[in-house]
Amino acid sequence: MKVSRSRALFSRAVELLPGGVDSPVRAFTSVGAAPLFIKRAAGARLEDADGNVFIDYVMSWGPLIHGHAPPGLVKALCAAARRGTSYGAPCHLEVDLGERVRRLMPSLERLRFVSSGTEAAMSAIRVARAATRRDKIIKFEGCYHGHADPFLVQAGSGALTLGVPTSPGVTAAAAADTLLASYNDLESVHRVFAANRGRIAALIVEPIAGNMGVVPPADGFLPGLREACSTHGAVLIFDEVISGFRAASGGAQGLFKIHPDLTCLGKIIGGGLPVGAYGGRTDLMNLVSPVGPVYQAGTLSGNPLAMTAGLWGLERLTPSMYRALAALGTRLAAGLASAAREARVSLQVNAFGSVLTPFFTDRPVRDYRSATRADSTKYATFFRGMILRGVYPPPSQFEGWFLSAAHTAKDVDKTISAARAAMREVASAG
Ligand SMILES: *Cc1c(COP(=O)(O)O)cnc(C)c1O
Repeated sequence: MKVSRSRALFSRAVELLPGGVDSPVRAFTSVGAAPLFIKRAAGARLEDADGNVFIDYVMSWGPLIHGHAPPGLVKALCAAARRGTSYGAPCHLEVDLGERVRRLMPSLERLRFVSSGTEAAMSAIRVARAATRRDKIIKFEGCYHGHADPFLVQAGSGALTLGVPTSPGVTAAAAADTLLASYNDLESVHRVFAANRGRIAALIVEPIAGNMGVVPPADGFLPGLREACSTHGAVLIFDEVISGFRAASGGAQGLFKIHPDLTCLGKIIGGGLPVGAYGGRTDLMNLVSPVGPVYQAGTLSGNPLAMTAGLWGLERLTPSMYRALAALGTRLAAGLASAAREARVSLQVNAFGSVLTPFFTDRPVRDYRSATRADSTKYATFFRGMILRGVYPPPSQFEGWFLSAAHTAKDVDKTISAARAAMREVASAG
């Protein structure tokens, strides 16, 4: 595989950007390789600077449920740009997208658009603290809620991959207000509440964990969280930055019929442009400025291009699309599992609809501890084998693989044949 152009770009980039990247998960550090620089993308395909073409399973880490650059979206964005790229004043697109989000997720009685999932989660916590006049929050080991200080305690995604459970630069005081519980372990939640009576403002959770690899909620886990928060007067925050519009058009909350107090959204809601949103109960959201005293603002919030992309994508979420995506997810999960069996490699595939993670371990993965038992070295060998065969999986063991409406059964079958060969390499590497 020719990589000279990517290498040349990377050597310029490392002299400029820390690690040559603008987000650590892109760096290929944990798979022992140098990142490929992407030139263009369309449908389910990425093309790098050297002209290598890949079936993409990163899909920008989740937003691109309709694939890369669908022609209708590109047309809508060009038309929107001709009307102006930012107004610094309200526009009808914010109202249109907001109403559509509320129809899909009725728990968001009021919402505020921001520019990233990080912003959504940090703002939701601020509202919860203001509403309860309490300081502490509960989060789960291995769940990721963006890179704001209160969340960089046993966070997933890049923080997990790089083994930096608590980032330097986060003050001891900020970390002390973040209490940890174990995902899928209600007892651990009850213990934290019991030890901190009257002091917990909020519990934040990815209802379907995606940032320690995919870990679905066990039966009773989400209803148990709802009940514990109601009992203790804490705000239940669902971080649906991945699961919103991915698990189902109504998100995990629609699927599992749980009514959170606040919800964080990102990724698909922006259709590939920078957008986030947080929202929920009217009494909570009315604390936000200018109605209430909780300050939160953004120069580019509700940006017309971003709203256009979000609206275009949300208007095209159909039951048949979710059925087709789930069928592809099942096909890919089964194919990866059988490729591993044939090569006598231990693999657990966790799948939820169109997102899945193949964990290189022989034991079921249901929380942070069992996820981190997976063998990253084997994953790295597997990853490199896939790249050489024209498939671009996430460059880390602890991430989800994302399917899109642009992926076909043929793409998935090609991916499975590549996996058969890559699994043999994993087996022979020992
Ligand atoms: C990606 C992600 C975030 C952060 O969103 P950014 O737009 O990267 O700031 C927050 N929560 C979850 C669950 C995510 O997957």
